[in-house]
Amino acid sequence: MDARAAVPARRPVRGADGGPRGVVAAADGTVVVSWAAHEFELYFIQKHVGTKASFLAVVVGTQLPDALTKSFVYAADDTAHFHRGWPGVGFTHSLMFGVVVAALVLALTRSRGWALGILVGHWAHVLTDIADTAGVMLFFPFSTEPITISMWKHAAVEGRYGDAAAYYSSLGGVWDLFWLVVMLVFAWRTLTPSYFRAVVVPADPHVWGWLHRTFRLPERALLLIYQGLLFYGIGRMVTWFLYARFDARTPFEPFWGGPGYIAGNDISDAGLAEVLVRTVIGAVLFAGFLWLCWRTFGRRLWARGYDVPAAAEPLRAST
Ligand SMILES: [Zn+2]
Repeated sequence: MDARAAVPARRPVRGADGGPRGVVAAADGTVVVSWAAHEFELYFIQKHVGTKASFLAVVVGTQLPDALTKSFVYAADDTAHFHRGWPGVGFTHSLMFGVVVAALVLALTRSRGWALGILVGHWAHVLTDIADTAGVMLFFPFSTEPITISMWKHAAVEGRYGDAAAYYSSLGGVWDLFWLVVMLVFAWRTLTPSYFRAVVVPADPHVWGWLHRTFRLPERALLLIYQGLLFYGIGRMVTWFLYARFDARTPFEPFWGGPGYIAGNDISDAGLAEVLVRTVIGAVLFAGFLWLCWRTFGRRLWARGYDVPAAAEPLRAST
């Protein structure tokens, strides 16, 4: 799932064939955010991490890979390769990148909840991006082979609007909807005020407390921020889908590998055997590297960190 503009600033130029032509829009100042599925996944992750990780850290983690890269991607010559490959910024979509950022956060803040939240959020984003044709270099730098199941086309080459239209004309849009349903069926409880009060705030009393004090936000406002990401995701999913149907008018092709009107954007032509061998080697080396880091300094870093106090009630205490 890749980033797109939250607020359209320019209309796409239509190609001669009626399909939307790409708008290279890196400099147009629009806000870059990720696909809606990443927002729906947040609450599903929250349900499983409970108070072990900060929800806000999970948000940062899920946004990290594309927030750092996407505005450059649309301006690149070879968008897919630049976004997901090497040389390029594809390393932001590797498991290693999440580990490095999480370790830095742990070293600087000592907060286990923030380190864990960033790691889980980042890895969720990386694993989700396996679904498009460009894929991700999961075990970079030990393997630069992208892993992909090619469920839909990586379409950044079409520019922001063409990218959005293509995504919501493919199984990508269905994937968004799937995550919304999963979230509403299995994790709806995470949206309730009582859950927010009992789990989300105690998992990160410092930052929620800081928002509460600095901006004089009552608990209801904080709850709205927390729930708001879901409505933001729904809003974007619906409007981009309508944009694709009624403005860009791209054909809706929710079939594996669609949409057909866009050329394939895979960044590797390796055969299955090559991909398998490189990936297995990459995975083994990555696991070994993690183990080595854990033994040499990770363990100490973790031991130095702190869990949140179980009974923290920062909102009431500071009112
Ligand atoms: Zn991404």
